[in-house]
Amino acid sequence: MQASKTQPINLPQSSMIDPFGRTIDYLRVSVTDRCDFRCVYCMAEDMTFLPKRDLLSLEELDRLCSVFIEKGVRRLRLTGGEPLVRKNIMHLIRQLSRHIRSGALEELTLTSNGSQLERFAGELADCGVRRINVSIDTLDPEKFQAITRWGKLDKVMRGIEAAEAAGLHVKINTVALKGFNEQEIPEMMRWAHGRGMDMTVIETMPMGEIDADRTDQYLPLSLLRASLEHDFTLNDIPFKTGGPARYVEVAETGGRLGFITPMTHNFCESCNRVRITCTGTLYMCLGQDDAADLREALRASEGNELLSSAIDEAIGRKPKGHDFVIDRRTKRPSVSRHMSVTGG
Ligand code: SAM
Repeated sequence: MQASKTQPINLPQSSMIDPFGRTIDYLRVSVTDRCDFRCVYCMAEDMTFLPKRDLLSLEELDRLCSVFIEKGVRRLRLTGGEPLVRKNIMHLIRQLSRHIRSGALEELTLTSNGSQLERFAGELADCGVRRINVSIDTLDPEKFQAITRWGKLDKVMRGIEAAEAAGLHVKINTVALKGFNEQEIPEMMRWAHGRGMDMTVIETMPMGEIDADRTDQYLPLSLLRASLEHDFTLNDIPFKTGGPARYVEVAETGGRLGFITPMTHNFCESCNRVRITCTGTLYMCLGQDDAADLREALRASEGNELLSSAIDEAIGRKPKGHDFVIDRRTKRPSVSRHMSVTGG
């Protein structure tokens, strides 16, 4: 593999503060819009993906991330699509790991469907990745295949085992879906906590056209929490991982359960993040369409000054929050892009 042509970065260490006084120190990067699964709430089965020529190269992604780190990003999460299906992704991760070694970055992590983890877990750990989020919505192999359309649960399970063996801390992310997994969440939680893994449940968000009606899938987590409280003692705790989840400790399992509630209780007041797509588009809010094209600034010159000012200009436009709606009257998704564009 050829060495990176990344430019040295000479920008002063600074911080990015948006118009509402929020410090932006968390960056999520969708390294590809492609995925080897087709989760029914996330994508249509016949998705059209971006032509490969539109994607930023791995070197460009590295340069972009490095500028954000210079500007105060302390946590970096790679996502997708499925980040581990991007060709030569380990090259990018190895390059980025220099920021962990230098102490500029506190955390380099990934959100994955787990399908490729068996292959990559050891190398990820070697690159300084300590935690990884794995998305699983059911522990039933047939239901798993149905919800992911193309996924195989046993492969994901082997991936989780490989991650654990490599010393990665795995957190399970589960989208709560009415009529699909609401009855199964207690069992999934016991399973996750029994293996020493945290688990986070997520409300489904109205992003992108899919083949189904989202009103049928939407399960408010306030209802899920109330139902869990029949059988479990949920104690609110101040635990934070830098993300939007609010955690409880479950007395009966001794484990942590997080709730991500973009619909019933938005967490925008504490938003510390921005997102970049694999084409270099910067989204300042997951739930809004306003965006800035960083690819042009990136390619316009070899130095990083233009890019840095384009980022500052965009952070200056970060909106206060999102306004997602899921109801029977609202036929169109609140945001037209799919979650796979920005990776959640
Ligand atoms: N492929 C990786 C994975 O499976 O985690 C990363 C990308 S995936 C888009 C990130 C997360 O977003 C997954 O946990 C997925 O279940 C979730 N997700 C996708 N579409 C969603 C939606 N409309 N509402 C809520 N969560 C969604």
